[in-house]
Amino acid sequence: MNARRKLPPGRLIAATHNPGKVKELGELLGKAGFTAVSAHQLGLPEPDETADTFVGNAELKALAAAKASGEPALADDSGLACDGLSGAPGIYSARWAGPNKDFRAAMQKVEDGLKVETSADGEVDRRASFVCVLALAWPDGHTESFEGIVRGQLVFPPRGDRGFGYDPIFVPEGETETFGEMDPAKKHAMSHRAVAFAKLSAFLAE
Ligand code: IMP
Repeated sequence: MNARRKLPPGRLIAATHNPGKVKELGELLGKAGFTAVSAHQLGLPEPDETADTFVGNAELKALAAAKASGEPALADDSGLACDGLSGAPGIYSARWAGPNKDFRAAMQKVEDGLKVETSADGEVDRRASFVCVLALAWPDGHTESFEGIVRGQLVFPPRGDRGFGYDPIFVPEGETETFGEMDPAKKHAMSHRAVAFAKLSAFLAE
């Protein structure tokens, strides 16, 4: 494993072409004294997510931006991993919704998959995790990654319209509401993304 490398405050490339993510990363980085510039603003290419892990895909995106720009870059990868589906949809979470981003269909696919995997005694394994990995990369190929995981239970039918993606079928441990029903501020304070951000912030403040 690589030794921890410090990153002095300055400009950092947000290696994403998603404006929502640029805003979210920019706010976090601003608090830590960094100025985020998006890969899109710099006209950097968007690499294909060809790795088979969240860490692999986050690092691949961060490294592509760092190498193309010659500056440190930050990228993320996230998704829902269902225990009863051997970790699926996992890194394919966005792709399960298809080109039309149809998450109703993607959630149905999760429910159907769990029915197929139901054990002989009728037990459905409803345990799942939301996972977020933030990866920092330097132009010389060095990386530092920060993982956030929230465990929970899957519920069907989906409940709530306040979140996005798979939020309506995920009830985090210790809660009764799905992420789709929960006050967004509460979700953002406890989410997989918040956990990964907290680890990154601690690192940047070192
Ligand atoms: P990414 O943009 O490649 O990281 O894909 C993330 C995908 O995972 C999203 O399209 C969602 O389907 C799913 N996902 C990640 N985080 C969340 C969340 O907080 N709530 C619901 N779905 C999420």
